[in-house]
Amino acid sequence: MHMRLGRIGGVVSAIALAATMTACGSSTKTVDAEASTSAAAGNAGALIGVTMPTKSSERWIHDGDNVKEQLEKLGYKVDLQYAENDIPTQANQIENQITKGAKLLIIASIDGTAITSQLQQAADAKIPVIAYDRLIRNSPNVDYYATFDNFKVGVQQATSLLKGLGVEDGKKGPFNVELFGGSPDDNNATFFWEGAMSVLKPKIDDGTLKVPSGQTDFKTAAILRWDPATAQKRMEDILTKTYTGSTKVNGVLSPYDGLSIGILSALKSSGYGTSGQPYPTVTGQDAELASVKSIIADEQYSTIFKDTRKLAEQTVKMADAVLKGGKPEVNNTKDYDNGNKVVPSYLLDPVIVDKSNYKEVIVGGNYYTEDQLK
Ligand code: BGC
Repeated sequence: MHMRLGRIGGVVSAIALAATMTACGSSTKTVDAEASTSAAAGNAGALIGVTMPTKSSERWIHDGDNVKEQLEKLGYKVDLQYAENDIPTQANQIENQITKGAKLLIIASIDGTAITSQLQQAADAKIPVIAYDRLIRNSPNVDYYATFDNFKVGVQQATSLLKGLGVEDGKKGPFNVELFGGSPDDNNATFFWEGAMSVLKPKIDDGTLKVPSGQTDFKTAAILRWDPATAQKRMEDILTKTYTGSTKVNGVLSPYDGLSIGILSALKSSGYGTSGQPYPTVTGQDAELASVKSIIADEQYSTIFKDTRKLAEQTVKMADAVLKGGKPEVNNTKDYDNGNKVVPSYLLDPVIVDKSNYKEVIVGGNYYTEDQLK
């Protein structure tokens, strides 16, 4: 019965069920239903704490705005905070939200291992926690996780790199590629990397792809805090050390649009981006405005579109279900082990975007207008 109530979730059903169960004289189940009903009533208009990593990347601004707006539509109050990628700041923000009486926390963490004690405080105060986009690691106190299929994001990045190189059309190479990874403290970064390598490794092994820098392990390729300037510097170093003489870069696996901008700028300083020496195929992620423009201008090759409106919607549904004493919808209960438990997750589908489909996906989907992309 508890399960059914979870799926029904609604206040009206809970009340009806409570009445039926009382009539049947089943005391424990009545208590369940009543708890659910009183949670629904007690949490109406509750304060929800939302913490996002940084405003330096546009996607998180969209995420924060969308989550806030949708929660407010349901009558909740929202405390939305950004921490500019500073871990202690984010930890303080979470503590403040607990002190202010938040009834639920939605957290997109900076370092997925660094907020264990704040989560313990939340658990002690019976405040449920939803990990947003990035899994929070090494803590039992994470109730749910809403994200995109992160392994698939990596597969898509690599697939699009091969498409840009012409491998999908039968070109044999060998092609010179360089590989970038995301921030090592972000659980997603290893998922992206492993997804990408599941496609690229066989092509490296059969000689279609070469990595002239020799830097093929995640640790060397990872860019701390997803910092564009660090990526630019690493690309510059690789270009100076490895690409001497006539050796040219044909492709770069980049896991995030901000890094792609840094990488393209290093390539530009090295003479790429002209009609004689066009840019290599550079991938990305997040469909940030500047990068979609860059794709249209034939600089960046592709990005991965993750509709932040949908992620917000799913997370808000989860939050609302939890606050009403129900069980939110999840579609994955095996892949996201946070080192302490497998966190029940809802995964959304990412989409590859390049010049051939941006109009249909990005403009058609009302993510940006044609005017914004001019
Ligand atoms: C997100 C990506 C984003 C990256 C950098 C990751 O956790 O899933 O969408 O590109 O962080 O902000």
